[in-house]
Amino acid sequence: MGSAKGMARGLTLLSIRKDGEVRLAARTPRGILDVVEAARLLGMQGPKTMDELLQGEDGLRLEALVKAALDRAQAAGAFSAEEGISYAPLVGRPEKIVCVGLNYRRHAAEIGQPIPKQPVLFSKYNVALNAHGGTIELPVGIARKFDHEVELVIVMGKLARNVPEAEALSYVAGYATGNDFTARDLQLETGGQWLLGKTPDGFAPLGPYLVTADQIDPDRLAIECRVNGETRQSSNTSDLIFGCRQVIAYVSRTFTLRPGDVIYTGTPEGVILGKPPGQQVWLKPGDAIACSVEQLGELRFTLT
Ligand code: ZN
Repeated sequence: MGSAKGMARGLTLLSIRKDGEVRLAARTPRGILDVVEAARLLGMQGPKTMDELLQGEDGLRLEALVKAALDRAQAAGAFSAEEGISYAPLVGRPEKIVCVGLNYRRHAAEIGQPIPKQPVLFSKYNVALNAHGGTIELPVGIARKFDHEVELVIVMGKLARNVPEAEALSYVAGYATGNDFTARDLQLETGGQWLLGKTPDGFAPLGPYLVTADQIDPDRLAIECRVNGETRQSSNTSDLIFGCRQVIAYVSRTFTLRPGDVIYTGTPEGVILGKPPGQQVWLKPGDAIACSVEQLGELRFTLT
């Protein structure tokens, strides 16, 4: 018998709102499994939220619970059709949201920046987290240059400190589609730090799914962003300057990454900032954004 701890494998996970609370759920061939309800019906123990799963390194227990729910008739009431569910932000209270800037070769080129020699790091706060199907209230009183940045997002599954590149991916719980939504004027015209333009409330949509790391090769994933149905960004993570291994190794040299921490790995070319000044049409209330990373699902949100 091995350790009861470990990261979940072979699962596609989400966070849902139900009965006034946020719950961990799994996408299965029988529909969306409410993990809390399944545990109750089966008389089993399991993590109740994504944060609890990640911070408790409780993946093996979750795998057993999902398998039992699929095998046993008394869990039937815990499944529902995905169309009817309400999504919550994929993670609730990560200790850190780390972001990498200028991390795709063609994106650095489109905005006239040299290829960075080290990863360019900045952060967002938890108030920025937003759900699949959510809305961003644009802070139109203080900004007007709103831009989209589809990104591959890493969700950490183990405490990582000074991790070598060769082992870095074994610390990842899973991957998700995200958008590092940005107010360019607050980012670039407020005094030298990017923070204000990156972390207004709701500026970090993430989801709909966390796909466990064992199922994903993060080095070659198609990545796209559409605005009102028009494709704006279409690239591949193979254009990343610093891949996931390098980013985790580099960050963990300086500060400890904990389970549940989130890393936005950078955006490819096609952002509005990359267009000639006369052709920059910034995002506005009413716009609908759809982002996808291959195998990780489509993240949709609207602006108001
Ligand atoms: Zn970004």
